[in-house]
Formats: sequence, C-alpha cells, structure tokens
Amino acid sequence: MNTNEFRNHAHDLVDWMADYLEQVGEYPVTPPVNPGDIKKQLPNAAPLHPESFESIFQDFRSIILPGMTHWQHPGFFAYFPANNSEPSILAEMLTATMGAQCMLWFTSPAAEELEERMMEWLRDMLGLPSGFTGVIQDTASSSTLVSILTAREYRTRYEINRRGFTPEEKFRVYTSTQGHSSVDKDVKIAGIGIENLVKVEVNEEFAMIPAKLEEAIQKDIADGLVPLCVVSTIGTTSSTAIDPVEEIGAICQRYNLWHHIDASYAGTALILPEMRWMSKGVELADSFVFNPHKWMFTNFDCSAYFVQDRQALINTFSILPDYLKTPEDKQVNNYRDWGIPLGRRFRALKLWFVIRTYGISGLQEKIRSHIQYGQWLKEEILTSPGVELMAPVPLNLACFRFSPGNLTSEKEVDALNEKILEQLNKSGNVFLTQTRLNDKVALRFVAGQTHTCLDHIQKGWDFIYKTGLSFSDY
Ligand SMILES: *Cc1c(COP(=O)(O)O)cnc(C)c1O
Repeated sequence: MNTNEFRNHAHDLVDWMADYLEQVGEYPVTPPVNPGDIKKQLPNAAPLHPESFESIFQDFRSIILPGMTHWQHPGFFAYFPANNSEPSILAEMLTATMGAQCMLWFTSPAAEELEERMMEWLRDMLGLPSGFTGVIQDTASSSTLVSILTAREYRTRYEINRRGFTPEEKFRVYTSTQGHSSVDKDVKIAGIGIENLVKVEVNEEFAMIPAKLEEAIQKDIADGLVPLCVVSTIGTTSSTAIDPVEEIGAICQRYNLWHHIDASYAGTALILPEMRWMSKGVELADSFVFNPHKWMFTNFDCSAYFVQDRQALINTFSILPDYLKTPEDKQVNNYRDWGIPLGRRFRALKLWFVIRTYGISGLQEKIRSHIQYGQWLKEEILTSPGVELMAPVPLNLACFRFSPGNLTSEKEVDALNEKILEQLNKSGNVFLTQTRLNDKVALRFVAGQTHTCLDHIQKGWDFIYKTGLSFSDY
C-alpha cells in the first residue's frame, strides 16, 4: 500500500468510523454467535499473494463486525465500561501513525515528558497528594503487581530480586473478600503464593472491616508470618463498595505494611470534589491505581499508577544493560524502569487530547451525570415491585435481583435471575453481567457510557424490568 492509497483508505475509514459511532446502537450489543463461528470463516493459512484493501475491509465488515461485542453501545451495562471518545480515538490514530516505542526518554522525549505532565495533571485532578509520582501502565492488574513487587523488594532491601526467597520471607498480603481477582493473580506471580492472600471480612455495605484486618495481621505475626501489604479498594468490581482507606492506612502504618489502593474504576469519580470522601486518608497510601481506560473516556489501554516512593519503584525494576544506556540517564525518567515491560506504547497522547477536549469541567459534568443516573436507577429499583436492591449505590452501578413473592428458596431466586439474565443478553438490546453478593445472584447495571444519557438508562431499565416481570409465573 503506498501513501496515496493509504490516504484514500484512511479517508474512507474515518467516514466509516464516524458512522459507526453514530449507529452503534443499531447493532445487537452482543453478537448472536456460537464458539467457532468466526474462526471457521477464516482461511486455514495466511495468503501467499497480496490481497486488496477492499477485500480485507469487506471481510472486516462481513466476518469480524458481526462477531463483535459493541462496548460503546448505549445498551452496554455490563462489567465496567471501557470507554472511548472522539478525541481519544483521534490521538490513537496519531500514535499508530508515528509508531514510536517509548521505553526511554531518548526513544521519544516528547512522549516521556508529556507522560510526566499528564500524570501530574491527573494527580492534581483527583486530589492525590503532591508527593505522588505517576506512570502509565497497561492495566490495573499490572499496576497492582508492580505495587506488590515494590512492597516485596522495599521490605527486603531489594534482596529477593538478587537471591530469591529465603524460608524467613513468609509474606502475607491482605485484601477484602470483595477484592479484585487480579490481586489473587498478582500474589501468585509475585511468588508469595495464593495461600498467603488473606481475604478480610466485609461489612453489610461490602467494605473491608478494619478491625478484622488488624486481627488478621496480629494473628499472622503471632504465627511467625510476615504481613507485607494491604490492597484496599475504592469501588469494588462487584458493587463499587468503598473500603475505609484512612483507617486501613493507619493500620498499615502501625504495623509497617505497604498500602496499595485499587481504585481502578471509581478513581475517575475523584475528579469530583464532592466524591473525595472516598479517598480520605489517601496520603497514607504507598501506591494508588485508577484506569482512565474504564470511566475516563480514554481508549483501552491506559492505567494510571501512582507511588509515593518513586525510588523504591525504580530500584525494584531498573535494569541497565549497555545497549540501553543513554547520556541523559541521570536527568530524565526512563519509564522502562517503572514497570514490567521494556517496550511501551505512547499512551499519554490520548490522555492529553481527552483532558483538553473536555476540560476538567466537562469531565466533571459527565461523571456527575453518570452518578445521577446511578441514583435514578437506585430509586427505580427501590420503588418497583418485584425487584430488590442488593447493595448500596455510591456511584453509577446498581446491583439488583428479581424476587417474586411466590419463590421461597434462594436457589430458585438465583436460577430465576440467571434465566432472566440469559434472556436479556440474548435480546441484543442490553448487556448486563452478574455477580454474587451475600451468596445471592445479583445483576449489575452500570450507567457509565461516554455518550449515555438518562433516556438510554430509562429505556434500558424499562426493557430489563418488563423482561424480568414476564418471568414471574416461572
Ligand atoms: C477492572 C478492575 C481491575 C482490573 O483492571 P485491568 O486494568 O483490566 O487489569 C482491578 N481492580 C478493580 C477494582 C477493577 O474494577
């Protein structure tokens, strides 16, 4: 493909992209496909001879698109959103075009310095302490792994990196029973072992009980184990429960533990001063992560990781083979030393585009409206017969279930809700996911799409409620 052909195809694609964004609501939000349906349409072997762009794009439309889940669909209420936005998409186009690999300052000075500035902007936008230094990671899973590894190395004066574990290093990591599964994965990868991840009990609002945390730490110390790190959560994945990070932070200080805050989803809401109660005590934390790629209109991937002791982070990850040495090493940040991969995408550009396009006030307005939709949903659930609210709604996720009066056993109610969910998701109108709260099936409705408005939420809820009630004679 030469640049002239590229120019023409690119113009066509931009038209297609704008149409897609306008019409995404007309697709079924989840595709009606079975496992293997897409693969069997793809040739067994790569083409020997060149193919035209027209035929490639035709196949994109006829094979790939019908097999996509449309995450930007106004009926997408599942998981947490992975929002994009027009400015973010445009920045990703430029990033792809320049194709820079941003592992060192030297390999793209502007990328490194823009990232530094964007992390300062984000830190201040969220009201995080000025002592925090930020770096963009791919995902929150990696950020939390980076945090646990840093805690491990800081604690052992970087000795495990050198000599591996000794039998004395019987580390314990704590999170709540509602902590994200990435914490489980990360303690495994960090060599700590899943048996040494302590799941601390939560209260009736699904927030960690600090007294239970302290009890667990004391018991472990008495048993000769070594408490290392607590991962608390602002906005759990099941129900956006908010751990009391101030009390947890104080416990961590008392027992000399690393405190990492996982605010992957809900961190974005800290842009709102009225939501800063969630992060009270954040200055006691050692590290903090939130994902602009979830709720801040920035294409996946973009995870903002902040750390108090940046030297501990760098000491944990730094490597300096001769082929990576540069004359500026002493004056600049080389982000290859701030996380796991060597190679890095230029992710700061999309943040810059997004933050400038919306402005802080525009972001606040959107987030605030999403939270209002969450509150609207909560009222609707509380006042509609036959449905039950399953958890508090501090933000824009409502957990609920259908519970018709004629069902007496919890098992039947669970089965009913699973059936309703299946029916809803087969409709192509909406997409919801489920969780378990107090061992009961709960359906999750997240109102956080970039362009979602109350009308979408009302229509979505209306459809869900009617569908659920139609099962009531089940
Ligand atoms: C989504 C989520 C994660 C994982 O995020 P990734 O960036 O996909 O790794 C971790 N913790 C919480 C609380 C989340 O909601």
